[in-house]
Amino acid sequence: MIRIIVHGGAGRITDQEGHRTGVRRAVRVGHAILQDGDSALDAVVKAVVTMEDDPTFNCGTGSALSLDGRAEMDAAVMLDDRSCGAVAAIERVKNPVLVARQVMEQTDHVLLVGPEAVKFARWMGFESYDPITEHRKKQRAELIQRLKSGHKLRYFDKLASFIDKDNGDTVGAIAMDRRGRIAVAASTGGILLHLPGRVGDTPVFGTGTYADERGGVLATGHGEEIIKLMWAFRTADFMEKLPAQMAVDRAIQQASQYGCTGGLIAMDRKGNVAYGFNSQSMSYAYVVNEQLVVF
Ligand code: ASP
Repeated sequence: MIRIIVHGGAGRITDQEGHRTGVRRAVRVGHAILQDGDSALDAVVKAVVTMEDDPTFNCGTGSALSLDGRAEMDAAVMLDDRSCGAVAAIERVKNPVLVARQVMEQTDHVLLVGPEAVKFARWMGFESYDPITEHRKKQRAELIQRLKSGHKLRYFDKLASFIDKDNGDTVGAIAMDRRGRIAVAASTGGILLHLPGRVGDTPVFGTGTYADERGGVLATGHGEEIIKLMWAFRTADFMEKLPAQMAVDRAIQQASQYGCTGGLIAMDRKGNVAYGFNSQSMSYAYVVNEQLVVF
């Protein structure tokens, strides 16, 4: 039984068509890998690379920019045996998720950050690449203008003292391969106008990204709130007794009580896939029993 679900972020999705095309392409790429008998890890990493290379999404090429105009990206991979690897605030690489995989497979660590993560990427043979797009530059400039004219930005109460956050468009994938192994992978440019050095929930295992014998979970939304809730681990805990969809529903309900907005995708040990969100919308796609479903 092979299964795969991907998401393209939760929040206010302005480019619905771009998202539909993007998540459909990614889930198909991942599904084809599973059909060939390859691993869940290969499937989720390839699905995420597909979205990192698509400027529609906030990760890899087209990542949201920090306050000082840089693309500082976070990415993570994790398997149901708890093997994991992540990079945070990494710059000038094309596919952060591939570097995260190398952290898992080639090092004794689980998370490398900032310039040292870049140095590690170069050691591993990843070439220098500029993921910053014109669209993101324009978006940042406009937002700074709005801030200067006294506009309040959601989630950034304190930012005006330095100077919308527009999260959404972060990506992730969860798959089960023929051997029943579950893997998760995620990648993000973080929140637009974040302070340099900020790390979100994606590479902090248990918060935005988690997998163990109970299944796999990925969160998307306001990273700071997700971290405080340990949202992914909390959802996995629910999956100990509940099928994935009920676990996700309960985790979304709790998040709402705590004022955390975003979305979740999950897969339990039996291969049930689930999604849920309490934000305006969420983009996702999955293939179950050869049926492709796109949001
Ligand atoms: N959770 C991500 C972060 O805060 C953003 C997102 O999911 O869109 O870095």
